[in-house]
Amino acid sequence: RITEVDGQINAFLHVSAEEALATAAEVDAIRTAGGDEAENLHPLAGVPIAIKDLIVTKGQPTTAGSKMLQGWMSPYDATVITKIRAAKLPILGKTNLDEFAMGSSTEHSAYGPTRNPWDTSRIPGGSGGGSAAAVAAFEAPLALGTDTGGSIRQPGAVTGTVGTKPTYGSVSRYGAIAMASSLDQIGPVTRTVEDAALLHELIAGHDPKDSTSLNEPVPAFAQAAADTDVAGLRIGVIKQLQGEGYQSGVLERFNESLQKLRQAGAEIVEVDCPSFDYALGAYYLIMPSEASSNLAKFDGVRYGTRVVPEDGSLTIERVMGATRAAGFGEEVKRRIILGTYALSAGYYDAYYGSAQKIRTLIQRDFDAAFEKADVLISPTAPTVAFPLGEKLDDPLAMYLNDVATIPANLAGVPGISVPGGLSEGLPVGIQFLAPVREDARIYRAGAALE
Ligand code: GLN
Repeated sequence: RITEVDGQINAFLHVSAEEALATAAEVDAIRTAGGDEAENLHPLAGVPIAIKDLIVTKGQPTTAGSKMLQGWMSPYDATVITKIRAAKLPILGKTNLDEFAMGSSTEHSAYGPTRNPWDTSRIPGGSGGGSAAAVAAFEAPLALGTDTGGSIRQPGAVTGTVGTKPTYGSVSRYGAIAMASSLDQIGPVTRTVEDAALLHELIAGHDPKDSTSLNEPVPAFAQAAADTDVAGLRIGVIKQLQGEGYQSGVLERFNESLQKLRQAGAEIVEVDCPSFDYALGAYYLIMPSEASSNLAKFDGVRYGTRVVPEDGSLTIERVMGATRAAGFGEEVKRRIILGTYALSAGYYDAYYGSAQKIRTLIQRDFDAAFEKADVLISPTAPTVAFPLGEKLDDPLAMYLNDVATIPANLAGVPGISVPGGLSEGLPVGIQFLAPVREDARIYRAGAALE
């Protein structure tokens, strides 16, 4: 299928067919032999998976969608990859993304944009457009993404797939190239809620290699996804995440979803989260600040690309300058400049400090909302997939697409996007959010909409 369609979609940056087939043959042999080993196979053993190219893999290149890491091979596997290999899921390859996961359309990849399988003149969302498009185009039944401000959920919404951002700390970040460490989470991209729950269960769990990893047993997410009974479940409609700025087709599908949930016995209440109006502003200060620091390691010495200035100068400053000028794309440079500016002496309190305060207010809004509701609901994205190129020269318009997904990252709460029907032939996503550690609730609510 990849050979057939990926020339048009460009979901994959690297395909590891031989490795995948070898794992599949191994699972086949175990099943044929029967006995304990066959009995003990993971339920997803033999089910192929595609990996966002921000997650490091031994023996396969990892580029982060950047020229900076062209040809770079990680000497180790991310923790999620170790778990996937142990459960014997064939790894199909690495999927395209906005450079260093900065973007909402996958147009900021140094390796060309990914196209939306529903309409190849449109974007597949971002930054994880490659993973979502691979699943939507039936190139892979499962994929992994990373979500710092919506990069799993928004691509899920615009490609009609399911995407989960787990509770912060629930899945190890070890081996996910850091974008904004206090916001990043790895999570599943799938076609069904149950698949997402199964994959989440597989990749979750405590990891001493990630200092923010939660040291708690992994709940039974798949069991929650099998329970589609929402009778009595209190679902909170977030006042701030609907209405102005949302396409009417998106709102129509959203209201139909509410109706469906109400008919299934859920109690729909409205919740007020006034600080959400400032979430986008806070995010686009915190995220670039952390990224500007995380990306300092790409200095032309330690990883990947090294560019020597034209005059042959080999001082560290000149090599670093030439490498970063040539290796990073425009959006990455924009964020580094934004971040270093926000963190600079004299501006710290006005920008970064204020953004952190807003972050606390958003957490409090969530706390208050979860007193009235068990889960919250909103459209995942304000629009359906937009045409390629439409927002490429307008960073602010691009950032606005993340308005509904960002609050969850700022508060660390789990979120899922599930398909909620079509508007003018294009998928609309519905988002559910739950309190920290209550990821099971988003699977239960998400499954009820399927
Ligand atoms: N679109 C958001 C951004 O550009 C989210 C990115 C992400 O989640 N990795 O920052």
